[in-house]
Amino acid sequence: MSAALRILKDVFGYDAFRGKQAAIIERVAAGGDALVLMPTGGGKSLCFQVPGLLREGLAVVVSPLIALMEDQVSTLDELGVAAVALNSTLSNDEQRDIAERIRRGEIKFLYVAPERLVQPRMLAFLQGLQIGLFAIDEAHCVSQWGHDFRPEYLQLGQLAELFPHVPRIALTATADMRTREEIVQRLHLENAERFLSSFDRPNIFYRILPKDQPRKQLLAFLTARKGDAGIVYCLSRKKVEEVAEFLSGQGYPALPYHAGLPNELRAYNQKRFLNEEGLIMVATIAFGMGIDKPNVRFVAHLDLPKSLEAYYQETGRAGRDGLPADAWMAYGLQDVIFLKQMLSNSEGDERHKRVEQHKLDAMLALCEETRCRRQALLAYFDEELPQPCGHCDNCIDGVQTWDATEPARQALSAIYRSGQRYGVGHLVDILLGRENEKIRAPGHQHLTVFGMGKALNEGEWRTLFRQLVARGLADVDLDGYGGLRLSDSCRPLLRGEVTLQLRRDLKPQQAAKASGSSASQLVRIEEREQWEALRSLRRKLAEEHSVPPYVIFPDSTLLEMLRSKPASLSDMAQVSGVGARKLERYGEAFLEVLNGAAEAPQVVVDLRHELVSLARAGMTPLQIAAQLKCTEKNVYSLLAEAIGRQQLSLEQALDLPDDLLGEIQDAFLDGEGELPAVAAIAEQFAGRVPEGVLYCVRAALQAEFEV
Ligand code: ADP
Ligand code: ZN
Repeated sequence: MSAALRILKDVFGYDAFRGKQAAIIERVAAGGDALVLMPTGGGKSLCFQVPGLLREGLAVVVSPLIALMEDQVSTLDELGVAAVALNSTLSNDEQRDIAERIRRGEIKFLYVAPERLVQPRMLAFLQGLQIGLFAIDEAHCVSQWGHDFRPEYLQLGQLAELFPHVPRIALTATADMRTREEIVQRLHLENAERFLSSFDRPNIFYRILPKDQPRKQLLAFLTARKGDAGIVYCLSRKKVEEVAEFLSGQGYPALPYHAGLPNELRAYNQKRFLNEEGLIMVATIAFGMGIDKPNVRFVAHLDLPKSLEAYYQETGRAGRDGLPADAWMAYGLQDVIFLKQMLSNSEGDERHKRVEQHKLDAMLALCEETRCRRQALLAYFDEELPQPCGHCDNCIDGVQTWDATEPARQALSAIYRSGQRYGVGHLVDILLGRENEKIRAPGHQHLTVFGMGKALNEGEWRTLFRQLVARGLADVDLDGYGGLRLSDSCRPLLRGEVTLQLRRDLKPQQAAKASGSSASQLVRIEEREQWEALRSLRRKLAEEHSVPPYVIFPDSTLLEMLRSKPASLSDMAQVSGVGARKLERYGEAFLEVLNGAAEAPQVVVDLRHELVSLARAGMTPLQIAAQLKCTEKNVYSLLAEAIGRQQLSLEQALDLPDDLLGEIQDAFLDGEGELPAVAAIAEQFAGRVPEGVLYCVRAALQAEFEV
């Protein structure tokens, strides 16, 4: 194992193996087969890259997508490891050249798509070589049940017979049991040792909130995450384009991605998302596999996914680098209605539909969950988390439940008595006793439930109906108009045999305020300048080498540089993620930035920009301080600066009563000539307002005079 550790340190720059990596590497390096189930970000690549380096011969890696191959090849290349990808974009000459280099033993890793690997010529070529191992990445593509099914994967089973002495390792982040068994069977991995890791993603903060004004809610979520890269998932192409445009208009650089866009544009947007920092990808689920960008800081859902499998996979694209990340979702009754209708209109036999229905129900249950979200999510994948996680909205905010038995019966009664075909708007009108045209036409003002529900308001009724549908107590009509009818499972409730406890929705402001996560707050305010300087050096190097920035160094490595402040190359070599080759190539340049010899002037502007938008969004200095992780005093002085530059009005920056403001202004204007310094009047207001307020007022007066 010491050889493996040496490679880990020298080549990759890491100090220790994570989780089951060591055991997996030992197994494969010794020539055994392995099936590796590990969540996204768990560190699967090292599981075949280290044994690949330990074993004699060529390591062949099967990967389903060109983007994934290119990413890994450039990563290895930057580490000083000879790797190539054979794919359809290469010319014949280039392919011949690669084959030559492989024959000469100059290449250590060969990445190849499954359909190419199983071509007879390719197999014959490989049989003439010494092969160190086969790694089959994204092995769940062999499963016909998943949505990533790739028929070519089915043919990979023959590797077992053709290369009986070459170890094979299959890897996937897909959790479910059925896929697991399918992989074993179809890839002939009966003798593979199985390595099953926890599927928890502890660095992801989960939040699901009731949809109220989705765009506004999304903006509130994004405010504290300006400059972060993220993905916003929507169901339809149209909505993708609208939301991307909306976000761009609000100052959040966003790109659309869906299957209806021309191929070149899609590829271009994807490339930009990978190569630039702080872009938001607004996308349908067409965007996903092949996105290995490690510093996606959030995944937001504006529409409900169809299943927990999809939710887990999509949210899992956040925070591969292990740094804090957010999974955020707004969901409402319309989502439920829409998905249920889509399901009933879909092709397929009854059994298949029942399975899909069951999956959707599990997704809905997570939305209405009153316990820890993470516990519930993992439980679905048969994994038990002994304690509530303390890192999801339910754990942080607490969940209130209430006895909804009586109102639920009224709601069900309203559905029943109006003939089981009206939508929620109409039903709420009945319950609240609103006598309008649409009520009078069918004579619903005469129903016994008419006006019976005045104890709740409109919003509360809507929530209740959403929950009834989510819990399967009411069904959505399948005709497309969203009418509700009773389901069989509501009978016990109607007969008074059971009671119903429901979760109480948080008020939108409450939910927005209780952020809980500090995803984008990786660096403190006083570190910002240097952080941005490191990032811009990384960006410059990435451009020079035509690779994404994270291939030069991941954020976690830059962060460690920032914190541990290496002063020499030997210090630098200690930083996690700095291997020998990168030290040699980049060590000096990053040291210069850290020692302040090289500067990046645009940075300060970034930070101020963020502060200004937070203030404009209505946050108080105290809230801003919490958001930017700095002192309130610091915030005041930056606010004063922004006021001085007339980027903020005094009203935007502070919330002062008029008379107090007048008093402060008078104090400044009392004397002749120059405005007095803050110190001159500070005593007069000591204990009444923070001194920072005086700086802001003074800045505003000064700005006024200068005009
Ligand atoms: P996966 O393929 O499982 O999603 P990756 O192989 O891309 O995960 O690894 C995720 C991140 O964690 C990468 O940046 C990788 O370099 C890093 N990583 C993996 N193993 C280790 C380790 N033992 N120590 C430090 N960082 C690691
Ligand atoms: Zn929790």
